[in-house]
Amino acid sequence: MSREKSVNYSEIFLSIEGEGPYTGHSTVYIRFAKCNFTCRGFNNPDMVEITNDVLGFDPADYDKLEDLPVISIGCDSIYSWDKRFKHMWFKRTAAELAKDVMGYVPHGKWRHPRTNQRTILSLTGGEPTLNARFLPELLAQPEFEDLEHILIETNCSVPLKDEFIQELTDWSLAKEGRKIIWSNSPKLSVSGEPWEKAIVPAIALKQRQVANSEQYFKFVCDATDESFDEVQKAMDQYYLHGLPQEDDQVFIMPVGAIEEQQLNIAGTVATMCLDRGYVFCGRAHVHAFGNTIGT
Ligand code: SF4
Repeated sequence: MSREKSVNYSEIFLSIEGEGPYTGHSTVYIRFAKCNFTCRGFNNPDMVEITNDVLGFDPADYDKLEDLPVISIGCDSIYSWDKRFKHMWFKRTAAELAKDVMGYVPHGKWRHPRTNQRTILSLTGGEPTLNARFLPELLAQPEFEDLEHILIETNCSVPLKDEFIQELTDWSLAKEGRKIIWSNSPKLSVSGEPWEKAIVPAIALKQRQVANSEQYFKFVCDATDESFDEVQKAMDQYYLHGLPQEDDQVFIMPVGAIEEQQLNIAGTVATMCLDRGYVFCGRAHVHAFGNTIGT
């Protein structure tokens, strides 16, 4: 007897898309558990280990993510992959997860009943492509029949199997208006992840094999030439391996886990974007809702 597949997620929430070309659009997020990286270096130049003391709290003292204090060092989504937060995760089958998701879709419809405005489903994490074996079954649930846009927020470092590419293609071709959006956030050295593991052109190229798909790149930068040079180095590496150079392809966000940290360098990062030819990108959800989890 085959056991039904299940998945762990840390949260589902409705918000506006905060970054990139779909900024401001109604979006339901599934934040899947697990990541292949730790990105300890964010706001942590000395790369200290993210102990409870460094976090400033003990996750065991909390039952719900929304009660956690603001995480201002390392990965700001650490609660979605670090085992210390596991007791706050949910384990669901595809059918159960689809029902959970619909609880967040405005008016229970993927198109707004009055304005026809679309709601996007964003698969985020952690690293959502680690759940590639689970996703096709999830998307086949009847609750997703009218879903049109799926945005996959990925670090673009996990190899994608042919089977997964085909399953996404089958989904996108099954109904008019469907689209897969690859929102890539490759990690630069400020993250603390090794370059050769973080910048993998073959994966970006593979994404493009999905029918009805589009792709863009977002980088988190501090206001230094080194940081912007790295963006160029990463993109050059993608182009060298055959990625077509497109308009409005690269978005830059100022580093900072919380709004105050981002605001400190936003102006300088924006000016550098103008000079270097990238799209500056704030985090609209942080401006709208502050530093709270679940927004
Ligand atoms: S890839 Fe994203 S979720 Fe994973 S550790 Fe890095 S910032 Fe966090």
